[in-house]
Amino acid sequence: MKLSFVIPCYGSEETIVPVIAEIDETITQKPETDYEIICVNDCSPDNVLPVLKRLVETRTNMTVIDLARNFGKNSAVLAGMKYITGNIVIVLDDDGQCPTYRLWDFIDKLDEGYDIVTAKYGNRKQSPFKNFGSALNHKMSQWLLNKPKDLHFGTFNVLRRFVVDEIIRYKNAFPYFEGLMLCSTNKIGYVIAEDRERIAGEGHFTFAKSLGLWLNGFTAFSVKPLRLTAFLGFFVAAIGFIYGLATIVQKILSPAMPIGYASTMAVLLFVGGMILLSLGMIGEYVGRIYISISNSPQYVIREIVKGGQTLD
Ligand code: UDP
Ligand code: MG
Repeated sequence: MKLSFVIPCYGSEETIVPVIAEIDETITQKPETDYEIICVNDCSPDNVLPVLKRLVETRTNMTVIDLARNFGKNSAVLAGMKYITGNIVIVLDDDGQCPTYRLWDFIDKLDEGYDIVTAKYGNRKQSPFKNFGSALNHKMSQWLLNKPKDLHFGTFNVLRRFVVDEIIRYKNAFPYFEGLMLCSTNKIGYVIAEDRERIAGEGHFTFAKSLGLWLNGFTAFSVKPLRLTAFLGFFVAAIGFIYGLATIVQKILSPAMPIGYASTMAVLLFVGGMILLSLGMIGEYVGRIYISISNSPQYVIREIVKGGQTLD
């Protein structure tokens, strides 16, 4: 058994060293375990790259991948996955929030016959606003991606090699890790774990970033929103039709009735809004098709440093 840890790094110059130290310490509980650590610098604005480069100089079991620009967490994870050599892959964050010290519980769970084991957080250490976002995301992925009801993906995931091989076959520009996991297997287990506070600094998922990821995930893996739009359009058109008929009948029955500008405006606004919504939804999908066929890259690697040497 060889373990491969994949860590996307962004803004973690102060936290990455303790995160790696915790991995080392956890491994000492089973010292015969072979393992490697792959850190992907997602073009972090701070000094995490020099920190990683210093670490890799003295470690033979570490690889540092430097991305040419900020591609987002999911792309960074997929970039790291391409370079693993182990048969069990652990994806974790760089800020010390993940329950790395529980690693062996996750591996035991995997041995029960699961292909992926994720961390289910009892109580997330995040703002109520973010909690609401997570709850909404959970409901949406149940509906759109047929995610089982009791499955909540955490930020700490342990995957078998064949699942990772399947995931990295995805070559489009906007990967969505959760969707890719759900597409690959249905044997997904979880370990209830504690979500810890960040060791230092602030989280980097702004509202705009989370919303982008969210939209991206659903439009990349499901056409249900498009169908919903068509359904809503049909529904609104039907109401408009019936309303129109009713108005004509009313006008015939009482010719003195004034022509209702207000109601006309209301209907116009409503229908106009629906049309815009539908167009926006369709535009989102068309945009994605366009980006896929124009071969926009999932990530661009500037440099790979492995155990002290640079690979070209
Ligand atoms: N991350 C990344 N690129 C980004 C933003 C974040 O690779 O543009 C990584 C980051 O390094 C970390 C993970 O995504 O490993 C989660 O980020 P963070 O802890 O900032 O998010 P939060 O815990 O606040 O959701
Ligand atoms: Mg975090």
